[in-house]
Order: sequence, then structure tokens, then C-alpha cells
Amino acid sequence: MSKQSLDRLLQSQGFGTRKYCRTLIEDGEVAVNGAVHDNYKTLFDTNDLVFTVFDEEWRYREHVYLALYKPANFECSRKPSHHPGVLTLLPEQFTWRDVQPVGRLDHDTTGLLLMSDDGPFIHAQSSPKRHVPKVYQATTAEPVTDELIAQLLAGVQLHDEPAPLAALVCEKRGENLLEIVLEQGKYHQVKRMLAAAGNHCAALHRSAIGSLELASLGLQEGEWCFLEPEQLALLA
Ligand code: URA
Repeated sequence: MSKQSLDRLLQSQGFGTRKYCRTLIEDGEVAVNGAVHDNYKTLFDTNDLVFTVFDEEWRYREHVYLALYKPANFECSRKPSHHPGVLTLLPEQFTWRDVQPVGRLDHDTTGLLLMSDDGPFIHAQSSPKRHVPKVYQATTAEPVTDELIAQLLAGVQLHDEPAPLAALVCEKRGENLLEIVLEQGKYHQVKRMLAAAGNHCAALHRSAIGSLELASLGLQEGEWCFLEPEQLALLA
């Protein structure tokens, strides 16, 4: 059992500095398991703890694991330069918790992006040794041909890679639409592979990571949700 004072607890959940959290509590803006508590020293067991701040309900989470349906024109980098960062799509407390994207999607790529404040999780998920299939739908500038598919399945040589990279699966889904499954996560990999095979990627969408499908999460573009353990298990 882990007990924490209410001010520390709120701070750990990303609601601001200790001082600000104390003010929120003393102003009666915080309720725990249904009852308002205005003494910030009160200790609470964090297991299964549900609290509200400004009437919005939250569950205590040691770490957060999120799925975001990334829209185009948002950057995954820590210091976005040309477009807003993906963190601006999340409630502010996730920035306080230092939530980061797990790997990156290009600013113009849409689809499933994982985010977390759990450093070892981020590290493990983005490790090059990890071969979790990632499923993309690429809209191509030129029609999808059997030759293009054959090249992508056989492997194409990218400039700074020691060996050719091949798609795990590659299927035509429309005149100019290709579904491609990759198990590596190299920089601009889909776009560079298509270019190396003589085509061009006009738009890119990621629909799944491992067995976790974006469609199963019921998100609209720009929306996010918490991932629960059974969904995280699908990333294996
Ligand atoms: N491959 C790319 O080229 N871009 C992405 O955003 C993801 C994979």
C-alpha cells in the first residue's frame, strides 16, 4: 500500500507545482473518491484512487500510456519548429508529467502514436532490437504496380543503411494505395523505401502497431485515450 499526501499526489499526476496544488486543494477544487478534501496534508492510499479536479475525474496512475490519433501538421519533436507539437493535443498535466511520443511520425503522417511518461517503456518500445510490425497505408503518387510490390518485399537499398530493407507485408489496396508493414522504424522509412523503388509517397497513415489497431480505439483525429494493460499487451 502506498500512501501520499494530497498535494504530492496531485503534483505527481501533473497538476502543477506543489504550491499550486496546495492552492487548488485549499480552494476546495479537489475531491477524492467522491468527497472534497481541503487539507493538503491528508494521506491517501493511491491504489484505485479516483479524484476530481475542477469536477473532471481522473484515476491515479503511476505512469500513463496513451494512444493519440495524430492528425497531419503536428510535430513529434520535443522542440517543434514549423508546426505545433503533438503535446498540445493533450491535457496540460501530461506536459507536466513529461509525457513523450514513443518513436516519431513525420509532421504530415497521420495515425496511431503512442505516448508515455515511462522512460524504460519508451526506451524498450523504440529500441532498434524490437521488431514489432507497424502497419501503414501509403498513398502513392504513381499507381501501385506488381513490380513496386515485388521490390519492396525483396528489399530496397537506402543511402545510409548497410543492407537493403524489406517490407514484411506489402499489398495493393487501391490504384494508388499500398498497405505496407515494417518491422524496423528507420527515419522516413516508408517514404524513402517508396522513393528508392521509383514511386513517391503522397500521404501516409499508421493504422496499427503490433496487434493494437487504431480503429479499435474509437478515436477521431486529434483525440487520445489511455491504454490499459490488455491493450499494451497487444504491442508485444
Ligand atoms: N515512415 C515514414 O516515412 N514516415 C513516418 O512518419 C513513419 C514511417
